Amino acid sequence: MKITEKGLVLKEVKLRESDRILTLLTAGHGVISASARGSLRPGNKLFSASGLFCYSEFVLHEGKTMYTVDEASPIEVFFGLRQSLEAVSLAAYIADIVQILSPTGAEAEKLLRLALNSLHMLSLEKRSPAFVKAVFELRALAESGYLPNLLACGNCGKYEEATFFFDAGQGTLLCGSCAGEAEKTPNLNAAALSALRHIALADDARLFNFELGPESLALLARATEQYLLFHLDYPPKTLAFLKTVL
Ligand SMILES: [Zn+2]
Repeated sequence: MKITEKGLVLKEVKLRESDRILTLLTAGHGVISASARGSLRPGNKLFSASGLFCYSEFVLHEGKTMYTVDEASPIEVFFGLRQSLEAVSLAAYIADIVQILSPTGAEAEKLLRLALNSLHMLSLEKRSPAFVKAVFELRALAESGYLPNLLACGNCGKYEEATFFFDAGQGTLLCGSCAGEAEKTPNLNAAALSALRHIALADDARLFNFELGPESLALLARATEQYLLFHLDYPPKTLAFLKTVL
């Protein structure tokens, strides 16, 4: 059976002289494997559309163990990613997380949109890699059914205060005063908390539309990474390297 699907290339594994096995994130079929025969031969019709981090339209047919790519045409190749080690390392991390979450159904469509928007921001250098990383980490989990409870202090219900404690394991908040009573050290300031709330709840179109100073971004980054690592079955292999370049 043949299917036509738009997909983002999350991974490519070279096979023999000129073949590649691709891992694709698609809206309709989630994460799938597809063999792209001959795609490493220069001039091959699949060459440009089946490279790593390409977003392309694929015509696939279903085989016993995986799909085979019959045709592919590039939609967006995110050329700018190759210009920066930080950007390409973060793209690899994003691809890694998508494969760990391995979304299906409506979640696959949401995660595909998030991944494409994140790569777009990186490729055009519209936001810093550290900023995109934090947004992706929290939003990917929120879209996968792990929305933290960021509304107010879980103890007294306070919505605003100078500092808050975010419990990454529970996905809950304590205001500065309640954190003090519980002997927890606050790990968010007001700006970092408002960024967390924005990332969890904003529309796709406005997701990256906020600004954050370096100190607040560092607090946000720590919170989103802890929350992500707590909820994944295993840590992304690409994280250690990413940390050496960011
Ligand atoms: Zn409180």
